[in-house]
Amino acid sequence: MIDLLIIGAGIVGCQLAYDLSHFKLSICVLEKNVEIMNETSSANSALIHAGYDPEEDTLKAELNLIGAKRYPELCKALNTDYQAVGSLLVAMQENELKSLNELYDRAVRRKVPVERLNHDEVVIREPNINPNVIEALFFPTTAIITPWQMGYALMNHAVVNGVELRRNEAFVSVEKQGDTYLVKTNKGLIHARHVINAAGLQAHKIAKIQNPINDYPIQFRKGEYQVSDLEDEAYLNHVIYPCPNAKGKGVLALKTVEGNLMFGPTSTIIEDPYDHGTTQAGLNEIDVKTEKLIKPLPKSHLIRQFAGVRPSPVTKDFILKEDGAWFDCVGIDSPGLASAPGISTYVIENFVQKCLKLESKEIIPFQWPHRIHPNDEQRRNKKIQEQPKMGKIICVCETVSEQEIMDAIHLPVGARSVKGVKRLTRPGSGRCQGGFCETAVVQILARELKIHPSEVSYDNEAFLMRYGDEHE
Ligand SMILES: Cc1cc2nc3c(=O)[nH]c(=O)nc-3n(C[C@H](O)[C@H](O)[C@H](O)COP(=O)(O)OP(=O)(O)OC[C@H]3O[C@@H](n4cnc5c(N)ncnc54)[C@H](O)[C@@H]3O)c2cc1C
Repeated sequence: MIDLLIIGAGIVGCQLAYDLSHFKLSICVLEKNVEIMNETSSANSALIHAGYDPEEDTLKAELNLIGAKRYPELCKALNTDYQAVGSLLVAMQENELKSLNELYDRAVRRKVPVERLNHDEVVIREPNINPNVIEALFFPTTAIITPWQMGYALMNHAVVNGVELRRNEAFVSVEKQGDTYLVKTNKGLIHARHVINAAGLQAHKIAKIQNPINDYPIQFRKGEYQVSDLEDEAYLNHVIYPCPNAKGKGVLALKTVEGNLMFGPTSTIIEDPYDHGTTQAGLNEIDVKTEKLIKPLPKSHLIRQFAGVRPSPVTKDFILKEDGAWFDCVGIDSPGLASAPGISTYVIENFVQKCLKLESKEIIPFQWPHRIHPNDEQRRNKKIQEQPKMGKIICVCETVSEQEIMDAIHLPVGARSVKGVKRLTRPGSGRCQGGFCETAVVQILARELKIHPSEVSYDNEAFLMRYGDEHE
């Protein structure tokens, strides 16, 4: 019997696994997909929001602040990307100034660093802003990260320090046996003293399977995005937020850690949580709303569209609930990425440390192995002497070598699919979108994993499985 089972390896499950791997506990993480970080945590704005936005007296407000404070230290320890680029929340019309004033006051109350900028000050900082800007709030602590790199780094650290990760294995049902839980998966049984349900889009269903009185109404909200090529890296300096409205933070303009510009997300209620298609209506909405924020970018610079889905509780706050020796993390929508370290701290303080003895152990550090920057020829040439495959470039758009792809596959928790390789080292992320390199990536995956190329999955054989329907 294990001490603790965590269901789901999105950012919340990965953060919990990381934090709890520092103690003498037997822990297993169950993830239904081949790749971890493959659902809501992989398709979002990648922002560590400063913490002024969530409504007063909510878990979101409390845990966003804790999360934002923990990220710099976490990213330093794991050697992952963290850029405090700062954000501008802009008022483009007189009637938005009221909302700007309220958010300023809220930021001051929460001790979130904030500065008021007039039109001229905004234009100096952000030359490609829409010249109609009247005023802006500047939040210097807003940061960007690479979400899947963060999740993989957290989980690699956890696994190196004794956590068992079972991927491609799904929670199906649970039976209470005295004070413990016998969890049935699609591959077998796991007997656990305690369970944390961090199953994202399925968490409300799993909460109900465990205890039918747990009824958490959830809506699924899709957010679509457009992404530009790397050539526009210098176009923006900050994250640009419009004044928020009832639907949320609105369509943003931002630069990713890698240097792509990103515009979105929309916010559309959908029925199917796995509907990740982009729509003409969604892309048009992004165009119109982005033009209100910044000077328009030529359409030919856009190379990709994608969408993510968030589980939004009708109560508009995270649902973090203990139920005996079981704990549910339900309705983790935005700012769930920024809050994940705060959610983990909350779950440990309010649940884990009450029911398990937390005894520290010696830790083996894990550091994220960054790929060589495309412009760093000197480092690449030096590396080629030791590892000749560093010189065999597989992805020409993003300058990714065969060695770097092999290294991503052979991490303790490494890539197992074409999409996993793309996320961890970037082949397929450039202008050709995998048109030139994908076949080579399949061959490398097959060779390194010792399987036939026809067995290499692009994404996920388990992706379309649905859980819990038979219990409704
Ligand atoms: C468009 C959009 C933009 C966003 N932007 C931001 C942002 O900029 N900043 C921010 O802070 N937040 C943002 N968010 C919110 C943030 O992405 C989420 O709150 C966060 O990623 C949720 O993480 P999670 O671990 O709870 O869920 P998930 O990432 O969905 O992880 C849950 C995991 O559980 C697994 N699972 C499900 N069912 C089972 C089962 N039966 N058995 C085993 N495993 C299972 C899933 O496969 C998945 O891997 C955004 C969300 C969206 C959609």
